Amino acid sequence: MPRLYNFSAGPSILPVPVLEQARDELMDYKGSGMSVMEMSHRSKVYDEIIVHTEEMFHKVMNIPDDYKVLFLQGGATMQFAMVPMNLLAGNGIADYTLTGTFSTNAYKEAQKFEGKTINVAGSTKDVNFVRIPQQNDLTLDAKADYFHMCQNNTIVGSRWNYLPDTGSVPIVSDMSSCILSEPVDVSKYGLIYAGAQKNIAPAGLTVVIIKKDLLHDPLPGTPTMLNYKTMAEKDSMYNTPPTYSIYMAMLVLEWIEKTGGLEQRKKFNQEKAGILYDYLDSSSFYSTAVEKDYRSMMNVTFKTPNEDLDAKFVKESAQNNMSNLKGHRSVGGLRASIYNAMPKEGVQHLVDFMEKFAKENG
Ligand SMILES: *Cc1c(COP(=O)(O)O)cnc(C)c1O
Repeated sequence: MPRLYNFSAGPSILPVPVLEQARDELMDYKGSGMSVMEMSHRSKVYDEIIVHTEEMFHKVMNIPDDYKVLFLQGGATMQFAMVPMNLLAGNGIADYTLTGTFSTNAYKEAQKFEGKTINVAGSTKDVNFVRIPQQNDLTLDAKADYFHMCQNNTIVGSRWNYLPDTGSVPIVSDMSSCILSEPVDVSKYGLIYAGAQKNIAPAGLTVVIIKKDLLHDPLPGTPTMLNYKTMAEKDSMYNTPPTYSIYMAMLVLEWIEKTGGLEQRKKFNQEKAGILYDYLDSSSFYSTAVEKDYRSMMNVTFKTPNEDLDAKFVKESAQNNMSNLKGHRSVGGLRASIYNAMPKEGVQHLVDFMEKFAKENG
């Protein structure tokens, strides 16, 4: 059985060299006599792994020293609650932008906190999220504790093509589906969070990068596990962290570094997305809804002329060494997630198949 070109939105494809290294180290990690899965998180050998993983995040993403990297659980979805629990302890005001399903869910979660003011600072719901609000469209509250955005909208396939100017209000960004895909200026953010299962590691790990001056006391009643300050003080070891996923994140970061870092990733990713979008633009058979300026480099959404053909496309692509090209159940259509680990050949293989399918069914 050959490896498939896996276009899943998450959990998703991992780099082959990383999987190979994990396999080689599976039974005996560096002479420890056990797998990383079996180790005490308090052991010296594991401590080296978690410390090095944090260092590698700083190195690869060029994260300034006044930021802390946290290794948490609960997915990006847990962050929808953890962000307001911790950050609304200031003025009790937050600005949210609605650019798709996940950012809307984050907004709804923040609304659950009684007596707080949760503003919609911008939304493109009226156009089905095919674009991103522009700076002029935003209504910003200068007293907000934070401004929330979802950098890359995994389901609709769009992304912010600029970083808004929020004055002194810290930006909180959900980067679940675009982290590590290109360089970002971390110093422009107050907090970045990402579920690992798209571009970092297997599921089970959630990475939070938080500016240290935001590590203040949370809202009263916040559970210990959901308190950033506690997790930061304990170096993500208040309780058992997701040890194996953290190890896998370390291998992925080392692979990124060895292959040229985030500048090189951006080049590869632009090239891959370019191949797919160029073909979509040249085709009268397929269509893509997202406006050109806001197209995601990671999640490319498109449709054939009708739903029956979409279903046929999914079925036949599966017979041609590809998987998970079905669009999200909430929007239908087709979606190719082309994260870091998807090779260019995978994208070319998809485009060749798309051409053939259009000829046969057009
Ligand atoms: C996948 C995803 C989520 C949800 O992540 P979980 O880790 O499953 O909670 C949230 N936001 C974005 C942008 C995503 O892509």
